[in-house]
Amino acid sequence: MAAGRVHQRSATSRTAIARSMFWMGLASMLPDADVIAFALGIPYEAPFGHRGASHALLAAPILALIPCVALDLLLRTRPSLRTWIIGSIVVATHGLLDSLTDGGLGIALLWPFSNERFFAPWQPIPVAPIGRAFFSRWGLEVALTELAYFAPLFLYALWGFIRRGDRAER
Ligand SMILES: [Zn+2]
Repeated sequence: MAAGRVHQRSATSRTAIARSMFWMGLASMLPDADVIAFALGIPYEAPFGHRGASHALLAAPILALIPCVALDLLLRTRPSLRTWIIGSIVVATHGLLDSLTDGGLGIALLWPFSNERFFAPWQPIPVAPIGRAFFSRWGLEVALTELAYFAPLFLYALWGFIRRGDRAER
């Protein structure tokens, strides 16, 4: 959402800001589409297992193409380098933030050069339960913890959204 606001820093329409927030939000979650690996019988620790290739830093610019092209098309602008760079940074932060969580097998940040799974030296973020298990007390605790950690970014995004909208309506 904060990236969406940065992307639309000079926009006057709330719709444009909301679209950017939605597609940048989708970009931030895209690496976790790899949970399908569990259903396909791919082991967690395999290169294409959960937190593997899709969480690598080099995969970010490739994965970012999907939401960034969709966003530019919806905003009726030509696909732009700026949108792609912002989207790539958003996708790359997913793996880096996952490395700050306290569970799982670590993140294959350097794939395809190495399948080694990495953790940050400090893991202050509790790992989230996967799938239906997220809708539990554990899931709620994780969601509230993340909300507290990322509150400054939420406030930055929402404040800009409300203010920008006011200005546009005047
Ligand atoms: Zn992840």
